[in-house]
Amino acid sequence: MQAVVFRDIGEVALADVPRPQLEEPGDAIVRITRAAICGSDLHVLHGRIPGMTEGGIMGHEFTGVVEEVGSSVAKLRTGERVVGSFMLPCGTCWFCAKGYFNRCPDQRVFGYGAFFGALEGAQAEYLRVPQADLVLHPIGDLDEEKVLFVGDIFTTGLDAATEGRIAKGDVVAVQGCGPVGLMAIQCVKTFNPGEIYAFDSVPERLARAASFGAIPVNTSEVHPATYMQDHTDGRGADVVIECVGAVPALLQALDVVRAGGRISVIGVYAEPDMEFPLNVTFIRGIDIKFCGTANIIGRWDEALRLIEEGVVDPSSLISHRMPLSDAVEAYRMFDGREALKIVLIPGK
Ligand SMILES: [Zn+2]
Ligand SMILES: [Zn+2]
Repeated sequence: MQAVVFRDIGEVALADVPRPQLEEPGDAIVRITRAAICGSDLHVLHGRIPGMTEGGIMGHEFTGVVEEVGSSVAKLRTGERVVGSFMLPCGTCWFCAKGYFNRCPDQRVFGYGAFFGALEGAQAEYLRVPQADLVLHPIGDLDEEKVLFVGDIFTTGLDAATEGRIAKGDVVAVQGCGPVGLMAIQCVKTFNPGEIYAFDSVPERLARAASFGAIPVNTSEVHPATYMQDHTDGRGADVVIECVGAVPALLQALDVVRAGGRISVIGVYAEPDMEFPLNVTFIRGIDIKFCGTANIIGRWDEALRLIEEGVVDPSSLISHRMPLSDAVEAYRMFDGREALKIVLIPGK
């Protein structure tokens, strides 16, 4: 079968590889119908995921059709249309039993190399899915492009918005209008806030944010904290959703949020430490929630309900649809920020 494989730092390739087989009783084999390129696939591309070795199949955002199931698979049937979670929790530990799947110490990730469970990725014609009953969600007759991001960036945006505990009428500032930030804006809206302010410096991304009902704020033109104070009688935002993942962005969030307000952090922080304004944050009573990996499996019923009811449409972020065979070019475009979100279609 055709698959997108990691070759070397900065290089992916199209390869002909053996079709996956059932290996464990809980496995399913899924014929992939859509596979997106995720921002975190670029970490693999750039060699920041050390367990990913030459020839490993990329990708973890997918929909497909169940082709084959192992003997212990109880909920799924052959021919069923499904969306998959990018991460696979163990399903049996204390955290998983409580529904905190994202805190499971034994989680694995598709297409992320040896340190994440050594599973092949979804940018291929077929994928082996362990623990299929837990990791795949049936989608009935829902449009696969609308539900594709439920297994990763849409539900990540929903997780961040939910952890922000937004009350009706709240002023919400979303920092960073990349794919996750734009998903977060759509999710924030479902909590009936007052205004949503979208902070970014890229005009195209701000225009997308505005199309979802947010007020665009170009951070290269205004001082974010001053701007926010000017629009809230000097208070600041009730809730900040931080989707950037860089120290200056976290410091900015502390300036943008009001006293007693909340910051929900979903942007990925890789820095080991930082200089932190401890006293001011204490005095102002800021509540900072670091979301870490989002609770995909814990929240995807809610995510699918929002899509089914037409409240949100995550597929509006898709900027390019390309055949799987054009994956090398697709990676070049996505890495070069020429595309907001690319969906690969096998068999075309
Ligand atoms: Zn991802
Ligand atoms: Zn677990």
